[in-house]
Amino acid sequence: MGLLQNNDDVHFLVEGLNFKQKVERSLALIHEAYDTYREGLVVANSLGKDSVCVWDLAKKVNPKIRGFIVTTRFKPKETVEFMKDVVTRYPEIRVFKNNEQIPGNLYTMDPDKCCHLLKVIPTRMAIEEMEVKCWVTGLRCTEGRTRTDYREVEERDIGLVKLNPILVWKEREVWQYLAMNGVKVNPLYGAGYRSLGCAPCTHITNAEDERAGRWIGTSKCGGECGIHTRPLKGEMLSI
Ligand code: SF4
Repeated sequence: MGLLQNNDDVHFLVEGLNFKQKVERSLALIHEAYDTYREGLVVANSLGKDSVCVWDLAKKVNPKIRGFIVTTRFKPKETVEFMKDVVTRYPEIRVFKNNEQIPGNLYTMDPDKCCHLLKVIPTRMAIEEMEVKCWVTGLRCTEGRTRTDYREVEERDIGLVKLNPILVWKEREVWQYLAMNGVKVNPLYGAGYRSLGCAPCTHITNAEDERAGRWIGTSKCGGECGIHTRPLKGEMLSI
């Protein structure tokens, strides 16, 4: 049985593996998935620390691996500048954005709908246009209350595998990897942010939960934009 079929206890792996073992496991997961899906394997890049970590790991497995970024009209200018730098260095990363007209205050009135329109729909577009069979994410199970129940390999949508190769890494281990490998990160981390998103919905906090600064003051506080919870293929569910 290969690693892609593993049924290991995720929370045991978080505490049981050391840094070196986690790096080796992540590389092995991406390697096995690339051998299986070839150009159908594509890395999603949110321009946060976890994404640039996964991107660096993927490039070590095979420099031909492609990626996509979903951006929105509300991204902070620092993230937009960082994105330009990333796509200049890696032209094999495509950028997807929904430019349709929406009410300017939708993020306060109905943040779920705003995220659906500006994040989930362009992610669906990326998966369709790039003919993705396996998308690779930087999701980690210790990031916050909504991220504890994921697996390293999932198939929520039929025909679309999701690989979470750094699922069992801790925040400190991500920073350790980035420092040791000289990976450039979004400058907003230097301002004190721990989790990055759109400007109106992302704040600096001292809370323990890494994602606590997301959607403060709404029912989505510390939650999800929807790309990890809503269908990315097939029929689109109304919101
Ligand atoms: S994070 Fe906020 S501004 Fe960005 S898409 Fe979601 S609700 Fe809209």
